[in-house]
Amino acid sequence: MDIFLHNTLSRDKEKFTPITPGKVGIYSCGPTVYDRAHIGNLRSYVFADTLRRMFEYNGYTVKHIINITDVGHLSSDADEGDDKMTRALLRDNKPLTLESMFEVGSTYLAAFIEDIQKMNIELPTETPRASEHIQGVITLITELEKKGIAYITSDGIYFDTSRFPAYGKLGNIKIRSLREGSRVHINPEKRNPIDFALWKFNPSLGWESPWGKGFPGWHIECSAMSREYLGQPFDVHTGGIDHIPTHHNNEIAQSESAYNDALAHYWMHNEFIRLENAKMAKSSGSFITLDTLLEETISPITYRYWLLTAHYRSPVDFSYEAVRGAQSALIRLLTTFGNYPDGGNLVSTYSSRFQARINDDLDLPQAIALMWELIKDSTVSDADKKATLLNFDTVFGLQLASIPSLHDAPAAVIPAEIHALSEAREEARAQKDWVKADALRNEIEARGFILTDTETGVKITEE
Ligand code: AMP
Ligand code: ZN
Repeated sequence: MDIFLHNTLSRDKEKFTPITPGKVGIYSCGPTVYDRAHIGNLRSYVFADTLRRMFEYNGYTVKHIINITDVGHLSSDADEGDDKMTRALLRDNKPLTLESMFEVGSTYLAAFIEDIQKMNIELPTETPRASEHIQGVITLITELEKKGIAYITSDGIYFDTSRFPAYGKLGNIKIRSLREGSRVHINPEKRNPIDFALWKFNPSLGWESPWGKGFPGWHIECSAMSREYLGQPFDVHTGGIDHIPTHHNNEIAQSESAYNDALAHYWMHNEFIRLENAKMAKSSGSFITLDTLLEETISPITYRYWLLTAHYRSPVDFSYEAVRGAQSALIRLLTTFGNYPDGGNLVSTYSSRFQARINDDLDLPQAIALMWELIKDSTVSDADKKATLLNFDTVFGLQLASIPSLHDAPAAVIPAEIHALSEAREEARAQKDWVKADALRNEIEARGFILTDTETGVKITEE
């Protein structure tokens, strides 16, 4: 069955054609590891994960790369301000050395992996770190320098955007507005106001390079690492919409100028999660993490389910009320599913409709609606419903397979998710928040587990 994807490059829905039959390479711009990921960031990775699962549902073998930015991401896209990792070192009273920067990066990288596992996001094939790919960056800048596209100034090496006439083609960005945006603090040595840094000099913190000690610009790391892991061109590049104007146009300018070939064939961008209609930003200091949600008795899988109910290209306003609505629906789904017996078969009329929906630019809200239609369909047996829901769940990732069937002998393993919910309940009880504790018990029980309070602590058993 054909797959159609909305390509930011053409601003149109296009039929997907892989570079190598049966295989797909996806590159997703990853986290800057100076802090925990917020729930907005996690939308980007749930989107990339469901995209990957959609390809896998269609029989493709997927190579998925999420890079880890652990150096070079300045506080503004216009190469101004401090490096975010340096700021993290100052914040945490750590020495300003590459070693401690790597250490801080490792801490938040581990937290990121933990977060994505809690959300049942499949682990990427590779998570390359910028700090470990400096040589690839130097090779790419050398290529641009040979062509006269990179030039040196007193504070770094810059990309001459006037040498790439298609600059701004992604999202049809008007160069004039970018120019105006970069007017403040213009570096007088830049040939054009929108030229951007490939390498920043820093005599005390950085790596040796042919041009002087320093560190890579943020955009160049993605050009270098995507090429190393996926080749050029590769199939699909993803990221949040904020990356379109600068970061992704810069990646395109660098890679296409250096190697005279497209960087990626399909560019896909998720819209934002808005908190009270404002962009949720890590740098603003007030952001919601998975831990915040858990404190509100919302599990990572509930949050995942809520994300699936909106199309990735629609902006969504976050509210606890909305997520709690999704939580009730999920509990209904899990309880219903737990009552279905095994031994059924996939209902092909439903699975082909499901495939048509996910292949239509990843229309997960429609796929979720189809799932509820199946549950209500009295012409399908419960066992067949179960088999079909398990098939859908290879894309949804709601861990339905871990819900014990009420008709089975109990399995021995208690999923990590249940332990996490139980821990949150313990915390709520310690704080004498009985309403929250009860809500958590309900969710645990809806997933088919029983909590017994004993003298030595809480015992979790299967129903
Ligand atoms: P960062 O760690 O800031 O580099 O961001 C990681 C990813 O999260 C990028 O793909 C961003 O575009 C994306 N992102 C940032 N904020 C939001 C948000 N509020 N909603 C959805 N995606 C976001
Ligand atoms: Zn990137």
